Amino acid sequence: MQTTNHKHIKEHEDQLLKCLKCGTCLYACPLYAELKYEPAAPRGRVALIDAAYKGKMDLSEVFRKKIAFCLNCKSCVDACPSGVRIDDLVLSARAELVDRGKLTFIERFIFRHLLKRGRLLPPVAKWATFMGRMAQRILPESAALKLFLPIPEGFKERIYPKIARKNARKRFPEIIKVKNPKMRVGYFIGCGTDLVYPEIAEAVIKVLTHNDIEVVIPKGWVCCGTSIYNSGDFKTGIKHAKKNLKLFNKYKLDAIVTNCASCGLTLKKEYPELLKAGKFDAPVYDINEFLTKVIKIKNDFKPVDYKVTYHDPCHLNRGQGIKAEPRILLRSIPGVKFTDMKEADRCCGGGGSFHLKYYPTSVGVMEKKLDNMENLDVDTLVTSCPGCMMRFEETFLQKNNGKKVKHIVELLAEAYGNKDKK
Ligand code: SF4
Ligand code: SF4
Repeated sequence: MQTTNHKHIKEHEDQLLKCLKCGTCLYACPLYAELKYEPAAPRGRVALIDAAYKGKMDLSEVFRKKIAFCLNCKSCVDACPSGVRIDDLVLSARAELVDRGKLTFIERFIFRHLLKRGRLLPPVAKWATFMGRMAQRILPESAALKLFLPIPEGFKERIYPKIARKNARKRFPEIIKVKNPKMRVGYFIGCGTDLVYPEIAEAVIKVLTHNDIEVVIPKGWVCCGTSIYNSGDFKTGIKHAKKNLKLFNKYKLDAIVTNCASCGLTLKKEYPELLKAGKFDAPVYDINEFLTKVIKIKNDFKPVDYKVTYHDPCHLNRGQGIKAEPRILLRSIPGVKFTDMKEADRCCGGGGSFHLKYYPTSVGVMEKKLDNMENLDVDTLVTSCPGCMMRFEETFLQKNNGKKVKHIVELLAEAYGNKDKK
């Protein structure tokens, strides 16, 4: 086969050869369900990447747009009878584009400067959401304006998340001790929890310490890098991986836990496999996995009062194979009435920064989730990913449907009551 010098795609060349062009993946793809358009669907993407790899297509702007338009939800990977890693192919094509300078100025600033400086993130996030709200107030919804300003689709109806006054990393010491510790775990907070949901970090620490686990939050941790390497900037992603690996590996830990589905996938699989940056000395667990498989959690719960359904984050379910564990936890909390929704593992349409760039499509994908929740007698949607939580919260506020959104660990912490000493 005559090929180009596309070194990232070359690493996954075998995946191109495995594609039978059968189209099974199309019917799993939430974007194909929305648009019924082959280049926006997995089989089309594989064909485009194959054409580029064989030198039949340039890595042009058209190619970039098609490759950027993917949620990385991994539904296609799950459905493919031939086991084609379409997700890895898409990321490798994005890496080729980044190697050829195709990151925007804003992306370069965020990935290469902002995200590596954890302390700068809270003020910048507060400023960005303030500016977004100002723009909503003063700018008209005008097509002409979009020719001159980088105004995203649907900006008038967006509801920005509230950035916490005091982010999670400022709320806790580096080591949170307990009497007679059974284990010592490193806690990777992640940016979404740090900036928007510090109460989730409080809940994680409460649940761990209640179970006699000492918690270590290494000072200076940086963004796991998921949004960075997902955009194809592997070199910067590797720098983040190496920094976090070095920091956590300084401690003698029994495990590392995180409450973010995307951070978990990144720390556990993408650091060693995709980025080849190395491994943590301690095993990495999602909090659901840790609380059901690694320890036997205390069941001295007090009843709570919730009627819940559960959304499976793509990066937890398909990314890490964790689907039963959150349901086990939910069913163990007295006072939680749990009803599974249809297609609970269908993507919510968030896709990291996908919803910022392709808001109308993201809304279409989310509508399917709402349809599947419609006739359920629930007051709260529970999930295990701050990214999904933000999309659901925004949507519920827009719809004014009165439903709450919670991380699973918040329910556990609430059921443990408020009397624990840290
Ligand atoms: S399901 Fe797999 S083999 Fe079939 S077209 Fe999609 S990627 Fe190719
Ligand atoms: S990862 Fe999701 S959005 Fe992307 S091609 Fe596969 S199914 Fe479609």
